[in-house]
Amino acid sequence: MKICIIGAGYVGMVTGVCFADGGNDVTFVDIDGEKVDKINRLSPPIYEDGLGEMLNRNSSRIRATTEYEVMAEADVIFLCVGTPSNEDGSINLSYVREAVRNIGRYVRDEWKLIVIKSTVLPGTTEGIVIPLLEKLTGKKAGRDFGISMNPEFLREGKAIYDFKHPDRIVIGAYDKKSRELLTMLYEPFGAPLFVTTPTAAEMVKYSSNALLATKISFANEVGNFCKKLGVDIYEVMKAVGMDHRISSYFLNSGAGFGGSCFPKDVRAIIAAGNEMGYDMRLLRSVMEVNEEQPLRMIGLLEKHVGMLEGKRIAVLGLSFKAETDDIRESRSIPVIKKLVEEHAIISAYDPLAMENMKEIFENVEYCKSADDALRNADGCLIMTDWTEFSHLNFGLMKKPVVIDGRHIVEEREGLIYEGICW
Ligand code: NAD
Repeated sequence: MKICIIGAGYVGMVTGVCFADGGNDVTFVDIDGEKVDKINRLSPPIYEDGLGEMLNRNSSRIRATTEYEVMAEADVIFLCVGTPSNEDGSINLSYVREAVRNIGRYVRDEWKLIVIKSTVLPGTTEGIVIPLLEKLTGKKAGRDFGISMNPEFLREGKAIYDFKHPDRIVIGAYDKKSRELLTMLYEPFGAPLFVTTPTAAEMVKYSSNALLATKISFANEVGNFCKKLGVDIYEVMKAVGMDHRISSYFLNSGAGFGGSCFPKDVRAIIAAGNEMGYDMRLLRSVMEVNEEQPLRMIGLLEKHVGMLEGKRIAVLGLSFKAETDDIRESRSIPVIKKLVEEHAIISAYDPLAMENMKEIFENVEYCKSADDALRNADGCLIMTDWTEFSHLNFGLMKKPVVIDGRHIVEEREGLIYEGICW
């Protein structure tokens, strides 16, 4: 099949390369010329384990361009552009609208399937995308072109595995022909298909992310309480997670959730609720716990280090989680911001994410290794669960104060150690 991917970011790249690996011809369209050049040079524009190898293996079936005309040749167009938050937390659909306007120019006489893969609020496909496409093309959705909503659930860092081995594939089909085509396209993955309406598919995505975020904030709230009680939250959650009704996933207490999805999606659903006159109280609390959580680490640090002014603080881990270079909404951002406000001297290290963080914070010493960041430090904050942080040389520090936000430090002898919730 000829597939066109609009937006070559984390979701678009992984989607396109995995479909190419299945024998489809894939063309990426992105407004970012640098990304396009990189793809054409067979160098992935984002870091994702195994992506480079798969891109190279399928080079004969992959190309990238900034020109939308290539859509004219496509059988299926996947829309994978970003849907970030506005200042007030509501969803910013400007990239989606712009991409849809461009798609509209190339939906002509041949039937095509347009698939919305970006995370969009319930009602967007039927209430915004379809009317816009029909107006631009003068054609009828479901008759002259197909349309479906197909949310993505991959985890960054494990994205290729997740895309190829999903728990389920959700197809929010507007019409029968697009349902059949998507079913055929996804058949090789052998995953259960869940076919529903576009609006329900949109809501599945928000409900999943909101529930996972809720589990994390719940584990953090209970963890904060357990710390006061002197009870080990990891011991508690191990037993809690053995209940099959609950499951053990997303019960790790720590510095909170970040990334490109959970915070923005929870904010978007809260804002949508407000707009419709419904106050999402539970989800507001989920966000509140998450905002406070990383700053607790500063409080714990001050307890052992005193005033932070002029103190050298090592921040280990800048990406929002291990195995990615993505720093969007990383919990290290509010922590570094606070350290800067307190006039601390910051030495930071991350195996992959330093270049991205340099774009936000200039006055941070970015170190070549964890050892360099720790050398002569008065305190250390562990923000990301990179495996290499389980064995660090804290002996290099001036004073071995370690505040662990990810329950990763294994050797604790001789340290002034505090876990955020344990
Ligand atoms: P991203 O920011 O990494 O990538 C978006 C890409 O779209 C960028 O390369 C950008 O240049 C491009 N773009 C923007 N406007 C364009 C236009 N008009 N035409 C062509 N290209 C355009 O975003 P992402 O993380 O891949 O997320 C994409 C969507 O998928 C979002 O809605 C997100 O919520 C959702 N999602 C993300 C993840 C994830 O883990 N990152 C997982 C599931 C769902």
